[in-house]
Amino acid sequence: DAKLGTVLSSLSQVARQLDVLLSDKPAPDASCVKLNTNENPFPLPTVIMQSAMAALERQYLYPEDDNVSLRQAASEAYGVSKDQVIAGNGSSELLGLIYRAFLVPGDSVAMMSPGFSFNRKLASLQGAQFVEVEWGQDHSLPVEQLLLAPAKNAKFILLANPNNPTGTFVPVADIERLVSQSDRMIVLDEAYVDFAPDNGLHLINCYPNLLVLRTFSKSYATAGIRVGFGLGHPEVIGRLRNLQNVFNMNVIGHAVGISVLGHRAAYAENHKHIKHERQRVTMALSKLGFSVIPSHANFLLARVPAGQEGSWWQAALERQKILVAFFPDAGLENYIRISIGTKDEMDEFLEAASDIAGTAK
Ligand code: PMP
Repeated sequence: DAKLGTVLSSLSQVARQLDVLLSDKPAPDASCVKLNTNENPFPLPTVIMQSAMAALERQYLYPEDDNVSLRQAASEAYGVSKDQVIAGNGSSELLGLIYRAFLVPGDSVAMMSPGFSFNRKLASLQGAQFVEVEWGQDHSLPVEQLLLAPAKNAKFILLANPNNPTGTFVPVADIERLVSQSDRMIVLDEAYVDFAPDNGLHLINCYPNLLVLRTFSKSYATAGIRVGFGLGHPEVIGRLRNLQNVFNMNVIGHAVGISVLGHRAAYAENHKHIKHERQRVTMALSKLGFSVIPSHANFLLARVPAGQEGSWWQAALERQKILVAFFPDAGLENYIRISIGTKDEMDEFLEAASDIAGTAK
């Protein structure tokens, strides 16, 4: 009986794979509920929209060189000096500069796994090796391991807090323990930190080997406008700025960045909504048999019900025009990642998930 059960279960897995391969996938279009790249779907606060519109009137002029006003605004908002700030066309641009500034072919970089997959690409582009260090039990930061080889031989150590794609958050005290004991540079990517209980930015004034990255793509709903910051020691920041293209940002990015920095409180409702939906969807998915990793970001990583596969769920949702992310390369074959959108979007997602869970039984 046990053997028959195993055979049947394998057969049903093959059938699902075939289902995925043979299904007519609708091409993603604007009518899809897009929950696969962690955007924040709410409209910009009016005051910020107005600054974007005003910037359009200056579109025939080159943008300000070296992002001076934006860096000044960020330095005031974050309580650091202007030479501790670099502004980027999204934090992806800054990640790219970090790899170019600190790695030559043959060097290695240590990165937490699972992590933001773009980092692997950047390391490969630079001809560098990447050492993947797994998160500890319960997604904790393995500080002791990061202090030993091979991480110890890496040019820098990269971690995101909250982490993508898990959404997990480690105490800032653990990050300080690592930064204070390591002689490596630590790149702390805080892309999702506005959805979390704490942040590590203040540490840059104590530790010259810490570089913090921020983006406005997630918490400030401007992924298409591209605004990101790097904050750290002036020497490190200077090295990155030297590599940066002239006019790397445009007039709208400058205006919106400055306006967001001056009106961060206007996003309180937005962040409250995302945290509320995060909790509601976690509970609803749990009832459907998913096992959801507690998240401190604007997305959830959910293990699909026992005996089912992430690829099958992703395809089944896509047939209902709902896009979610799936990371088989990171060993997450049984998981899907769902960004938190508006209440209507999450209702649509949950309705589809409930339908699909019914057919899967
Ligand atoms: N870091 C992490 C951890 C991310 O998840 C992302 C976006 N997916 C980025 C950086 C890049 O964000 P952006 O370039 O939009 O600022």
